[in-house]
Amino acid sequence: MRTPVVARRQFLLGCAALVGLPACGVGGADDSPTRTDRTRPAGSPTTTAPPAGTTTPAAEPTGAAELTETPVSAADVDPADYPTTASEWGEQVTGVRTRLDTRDSVVALTFDACGGPNGVGYDAALIDFLRTEKVPATLFVNQRWIDANEATFADLAADPLFAVGNHGTAHRPLSVSGREVYGIAGTGSPAEVIDEIMINQATIERVAGLSPRWFRSGTAYYDEVAVRIAQDLGFEVVNYDVLGDAGATFDAAQVAAALATAQPGSIPLLHMNHPASGTADGVAQAVPALRSRGIRFVPLGDHGFA
Ligand SMILES: [Zn+2]
Repeated sequence: MRTPVVARRQFLLGCAALVGLPACGVGGADDSPTRTDRTRPAGSPTTTAPPAGTTTPAAEPTGAAELTETPVSAADVDPADYPTTASEWGEQVTGVRTRLDTRDSVVALTFDACGGPNGVGYDAALIDFLRTEKVPATLFVNQRWIDANEATFADLAADPLFAVGNHGTAHRPLSVSGREVYGIAGTGSPAEVIDEIMINQATIERVAGLSPRWFRSGTAYYDEVAVRIAQDLGFEVVNYDVLGDAGATFDAAQVAAALATAQPGSIPLLHMNHPASGTADGVAQAVPALRSRGIRFVPLGDHGFA
């Protein structure tokens, strides 16, 4: 189970008024992401439990004004420090995570919400199923989708069943040199890489009151320098090992068949922004089948990455 970073709340409540501003997170050394923070699975405790007998404080207020992770800051990442050429290009370049580091029978379902001209829908049937069956999942949200579904996103982000990942600002492949895939031009420089990540990050912080530690680009393509920039900003770049719905083009039977290939530690990629697709029905078929194999579902953050 995820453990809220309770010890940080009082400090972060004071920071929440500045959410969305780059200065938030620069005020003190303790507030800046560190190498240690980056390797710590998000959501894991950062303090030890109080000794027995310690008075437990009253329940603290929750809500959108509260950050559950220290805000990410770009202040310490200078685009001039990075080359503008790269040697790798693809979905599994150096640094990209595709599996959990565990032999436990767990699977981390991930659902992208891409936004854009054909992608601002909301698959309510899918989300209702996950909630009814108490299936944790991680939702990778793009700024274009948030803009079209702000109240829905705030509601989803407040649900402890769901973790949130950053799916970019303009849904561009992440490149330091403008490489393209599927006819979509990638970001054109290290500075554009930072903007593609951090503009949406500020939107997520503003709307949801949390600061994700996972990033997946639009198209899931990267070069290795762009991945390093994301890491230096404090993110794990998380792709997938099971193509769950092929961009929401699979019918239900294909989705169920794809998810049936999941293994302990798998990270399937599906979508939550195409309600007319076969994704919801396919997931509804696959979840009981996977559970019958002893698999349980976890959000990103419960395990490290392989
Ligand atoms: Zn997408």
